[in-house]
Order: sequence, then structure tokens, then C-alpha cells
Amino acid sequence: MSYQALARKWRPKNLSDVVGQPHVVKALTAALDAGRIHPAYLFSGTRGVGKTTLARIIARSLNCEKGVSSNPCGLCQNCLAIVEGHFFDLIEVDGASRTKVEETKSLLENVPYAPAQGRYKVYLIDEVHMLSTHSFNALLKTLEEPPPHVIFILATTEPTRLPATVLSRCLQFYLKPVELSAIVARLTFVLEQEHFSYDLQALFGIAKAARGSLRDALSLLEHALLMSQGRLEEEAVYAITGGVPEEHVLRLLEAIIQGDAESLMQYAAEIAEFSPQYEEVLAELLSLLQKIAVLQFAPSSEAVQGVPKPLLAFAKKLSPEETQLYYQIALLGQRDLELSSHKASGFEMLLLRMLVFRPVKKDAVAVHAGTPIKTESEASSSQEALVKKWPDIVKQLKLTGMAEQLLAHATLKRKEGKTIELALSAASSPLLNERVSEQVKTALSDYFGEAINLCIMPSALENIPEASKGETPKVVWERERKTRLESDLVVQNFLETFEGKVQI
Ligand SMILES: [Zn+2]
Repeated sequence: MSYQALARKWRPKNLSDVVGQPHVVKALTAALDAGRIHPAYLFSGTRGVGKTTLARIIARSLNCEKGVSSNPCGLCQNCLAIVEGHFFDLIEVDGASRTKVEETKSLLENVPYAPAQGRYKVYLIDEVHMLSTHSFNALLKTLEEPPPHVIFILATTEPTRLPATVLSRCLQFYLKPVELSAIVARLTFVLEQEHFSYDLQALFGIAKAARGSLRDALSLLEHALLMSQGRLEEEAVYAITGGVPEEHVLRLLEAIIQGDAESLMQYAAEIAEFSPQYEEVLAELLSLLQKIAVLQFAPSSEAVQGVPKPLLAFAKKLSPEETQLYYQIALLGQRDLELSSHKASGFEMLLLRMLVFRPVKKDAVAVHAGTPIKTESEASSSQEALVKKWPDIVKQLKLTGMAEQLLAHATLKRKEGKTIELALSAASSPLLNERVSEQVKTALSDYFGEAINLCIMPSALENIPEASKGETPKVVWERERKTRLESDLVVQNFLETFEGKVQI
């Protein structure tokens, strides 16, 4: 059985078969049954959500020999001709390949003539946003005064690229990405009709990879069935989609939360055995972290009903700041992974980064941006005044980009002579780098009219040992960071393998 066969066989033929678009189906059913036919429809939405399928269903509903209704018979000559793709009065045009005005004009020349076979001539223009401005103008003229026997159905993935004049002539429907559960339900239905046995997790694997596109889901299903022997199993699905079973990603998260570097590397190696698409694995990791964040703030939200059980425990173990930090590292990791020539290593580095930036003490993380830092008992009133004035000073520096972000997440700890100490919330540590810190330093030096020494300390590292006499906080912090990195098992492994040393 070829892919075409399965996808075509199970393409919805009536409105009641359409999956995942209840609002559109309801409106169209009521209109067709009442005989309210609009001369132009516009279906927008991402690929594979059913735009052209709906257009063909409308063509059948309008041309069924039994009469106009939301429920065409499916048996008459017209119904069959439309399904088989040789109905004269359904004119399908791909906007992407017919962009020129001459082509649109020649298409529209036939509009005035009566239908050859059916009641209505239906013009389906797919990817209509690709038409040229002249083509749109030609189309608009027809849309302004359409003959009563002509219906236009426009389909697009990018409705914002359509001229307002065209949009205003159309009855518009937005087709949503099909929900995961609706895709799984449809796949289940198809497999049962086809008498295939299956593993439910395999269907979730397909539905996730299809990202809201029912067409992609059916295509993946077809492919996975070809690779399965007798029963559709998870392994066959992951071999095609490049994903990995969710439990593997959950295990990674658990190791990160426990700070268990050895297990983390072992689980990463197990994932590597799937030869996955690391982008897919990372997307799964991001999706789980996003769910944890929702669980932490809105546990009764519909979005987190039926999440995997371990996530409930993770949401309790992680602080919201840690969840945000890991999410941010994973998010930026998507970009870094693209640059990495060896994806498996790139992915490992990303996981290790999560451990390196792991806040050391949970209570230390609770210092938020904007929280005034208590000045020490001997602090002079001018020190207090400066802390109060700090937000105004920051505004006057007029920094932008990362430097602005950095200051938004930092608080003034003290200013002694020319040295300014800032505390940076742990979650914002990834913002800190030489260039940004240099920008802030320059801006502060300009403001105070003297060369400022800047010391920025992540607040998670505040509980560091006392400084020896004469040591600046920066020196103490760097020494502490070095000690912590050197005592990390993963880093030790790296150092041994590459005979390196930690440089701060
Ligand atoms: Zn019919």
C-alpha cells in the first residue's frame, strides 16, 4: 500500500469527517443546509490542517446531484468525479506556480460561462498569497461582481500577505493546527479500520512529530507501517521521526535536577543510540520544561492535564527560577546546536551547561531583580542613598540590548571608592560576558566621571568564603568558581581526557 493510497483513502469526504476544526465545520454545515452560499471563501492555516480538503468538500456539497447540503451523497456522478479529481467544474489552481497576471486573466476568462457538469463552478486557488499584485487586481474585479454560478475558494498559509480589498470580499475561516489528541484519535480510527494492531505510544510519537498537521501525521503513519512487521511499534516511529521515547527525555531531566552528571552522560549516550534528530529531542525537553513551569504557577490549567507523572515531582523539586534557567539554556541551545558539527557532542555540552549553571543553593537564588540589598551595618547613609538612587542611575545610562537586560536583573550591592559591586540573579548569569560587562563599565565610568572597577557577582555564589586581606570580591569569586568547576565530575572527566586545566 502506498502513502498516497492511505492518505487519499482516509481524506475526509464530508464535513462530519473533518478532524480538529469544529468551529469551521459548524458554521459551514449551518450555511450549506440553509442554502446560504457565499461567492468567496478564504481558508487560512498552516500546512496539512485541511484547507484544500474543505474546499473539495464544499465543491461536492454544492454539486451533488441530490441537491445542495452539508451532506453530499458520495455516490452520484458529480460526487465521484470530484473525489477522483476529474470534475470539470472544480478548477484547482496552485497560486505558487501561476503568479503571472496573464495566467490569472486566462483563468478568469472562463468565469462567465455556465458550469459544464454541475450547479456551480468552483475555483480553488491554493497558496493564493503567491499571486502578483496585477493578478490580485484581476481577481478582485471578478470578486466584485461574481456571476451567481461561480464560487471562489482561496487557501493560504499566509493571509496577511493578501490585499485588504481581496480579504474584505471573502468569508474567512482560520483553521487551527490540529490538536494532539484529535490526531491520535484519527490515527486510531484509521488503524482500526485497516485492522492494524498498534502501540498507543507510537501514535503519540507520530502526532507530536506532525505538529498539528493531520496530513503529515497520515504520511508518517504510512511510512511507519511500511517499516513495521505486523504491529505498529514505537521504535519504528522514532526511526522515522528522529524523536526518542519520552521516558528517555524524562530521565535526562531527572539527572539534571539531581545534579547527577554521570547518569546524565549515560542517558545521553542511550539517546545517541537512537541516532535521533537532536532538534526533536531538544524540542521535547523544552516542551517538558514548559509544562513544569505551568505546573508551578497554574497546576489546574487545562494545558497540564494528563502530563507524565514524573513531571509533577519535578515541578516540586525545581524552583521556578531553575525551571526558567534550564528552559532558557535549552532554548538558546537550539541555535548553538545548529552551529555544532557533531550534534551528539553539542547536545551533551548543552546538558552540561545546565549543570554548570545549576544554582548552588536554592535559598540563594531567591534574590530577585529589584530587591534592595541590605547595606552592611557600617554602611554610610550615602551608600543607602546610592542604592535608592540606583534605578534612576540605570535609566540614565541609556544602555540597550544585553547590557540593558543585565542591569535589569542586577542590583547594586555597594560602591566603595571606584569599585561598584553588582549582584546578578542566578537565572540571569548566562547574560554575563566580557563584552557586556565592558559596556556597563564604560557607561558607569561616564556617569561617575571616573574609571570605575566593576564587579558583578551571581547572587547564587554570594555565600562564598571570606576574602583574604587585600583580595577583591572578583578574585574571591573567580577562585570559588574555579574550585567548584574542578570538583565537578564531568569537568574532571574532560580535564583527564583532554589533559586540560580550568581557566577562569
Ligand atoms: Zn452526490
